[in-house]
This record gives sequence, C-alpha cells and structure tokens, in this order.
Amino acid sequence: MIFKDPIIKDQFDRCCPMLKLVCMEFERLSMSFNKTPVMTRLIGKIDGDSGVHSAGRAADFRDEFDGGFVYTLEERIVIIETIESLFPRLDGLKTIMHHSFQSGPFHFHVQVAPSIVAYSNMIFPLYS
Ligand SMILES: [Zn+2]
Repeated sequence: MIFKDPIIKDQFDRCCPMLKLVCMEFERLSMSFNKTPVMTRLIGKIDGDSGVHSAGRAADFRDEFDGGFVYTLEERIVIIETIESLFPRLDGLKTIMHHSFQSGPFHFHVQVAPSIVAYSNMIFPLYS
C-alpha cells in the first residue's frame, strides 16, 4: 500500500482494527489486479463530509487520477462486491463506495461502523 502523505501512514498504523482489516482486503484485491493501492485520506476532513473520516472510521483510495482511472470497471465491481460480501453491515450502511465528493476525483471510500455489533451477521450463517 502506498500513502499519499506520510501522516496518512501514521494514521493508518494507529487506526481501529476493523478499518485496518477492510483496507487490507482492499489491498489484497488490488494486488490481485497487479495494482498497488494508494490511500489518499484517512482522518482528513473535507467540508460537508459525514464526519466518518474525522472519527477515524474511513479511508479513501485513489481511482480517478491524472485524466484516467487506476481501476477498470470490472475490477471496481469485483472489489465492491467482494468487500460488501465480506463485511456486511446490519445498520444498512455500505462498507465501500465508489464516488466523487464535492466534484473531486472519483475514489473508493471504505468505512466501518462505530460498533462491532453492526457486523454480527458475519457469523450468523455459521450457526444457522
Ligand atoms: Zn471518504
């Protein structure tokens, strides 16, 4: 994984285990496409965001860059479907989104819930 700024690496080193887990899965999927993911934001706040970054529960990964895109449409779909299936949430919120915010570049936004209970359906299927 590459960090756009050294401070983002420091933030990642200290972030909660659940966010680390999701980011590591994003990295694993990217590497399966021979792409090294670039984390562009973790704590950093931008105007009008939900505050999930400030809370240390979200990270952004580069896609649109320098007039093109890092990932193909097919790769994007695999990444989003795999991460959503591995980390489904009970509170109705997404674990990963591909979006543009405030007309900035398109990127992947990964986020985790404030409580681990939101992931309890990850183990329910094992006992049903
Ligand atoms: Zn974000």
